[in-house]
Amino acid sequence: MNPRPRRLKLLRFLPNGWLATEGPAEDGKTLYLTFDDGPHPEFTPPLLDLLAEHDAKASFFLIGREVERHSALARRIAAEGHTLGNHSYSHPIFDALTLPQQLDEIERTEQLLRGIDGRARHAFRPPRGVLTFPMLARLVSRRHRIDYWSYDSLDYSRRPVPELLETIQRVPPRGGDIVLMHDDSEHSLTLLRELIPTWKAQGFDLRALPHLH
Ligand SMILES: [Zn+2]
Repeated sequence: MNPRPRRLKLLRFLPNGWLATEGPAEDGKTLYLTFDDGPHPEFTPPLLDLLAEHDAKASFFLIGREVERHSALARRIAAEGHTLGNHSYSHPIFDALTLPQQLDEIERTEQLLRGIDGRARHAFRPPRGVLTFPMLARLVSRRHRIDYWSYDSLDYSRRPVPELLETIQRVPPRGGDIVLMHDDSEHSLTLLRELIPTWKAQGFDLRALPHLH
């Protein structure tokens, strides 16, 4: 298990303003926690409670369909100072769709997110990280930022939590890392109950990725 997959290193030749593979930390002591696949009625609320308890902010890449189902929860995420990102409407495999279908997945979700936080645009994170070149070109031409990650918590790998913790302790995140997690299971919550106090004690600040202008 490697939290820094080689595939991500290959994306770094793209300018960070188009495709963010690390956060804008100036001081080297900031971690950017990101949560995909919510909002989830069971797992997102306790995660928000935990973040609030530690005065931590994060970014939530939401699935449009789930925003429709749980709009009050999406409002709570934004109201508590976290940033909202676009993780498509139905979480399809993007390279199996036509470009118009891909753009429709993004635009439908943009409209829903706009209704939640009033912002014109939201950074996009493709489901499973699958990015087709035509879509990348289109998003770049619209100056629509894509937020990737630089550090994968592997919380979706179905491995036992102690094993995940051991991996994270062996290859820990560094300042400026964008940490990939998911709030549609209890794994991230269990991991963070251990990790947030550790990271805080090491002097890390947990912040949300910046909004798009
Ligand atoms: Zn996802």
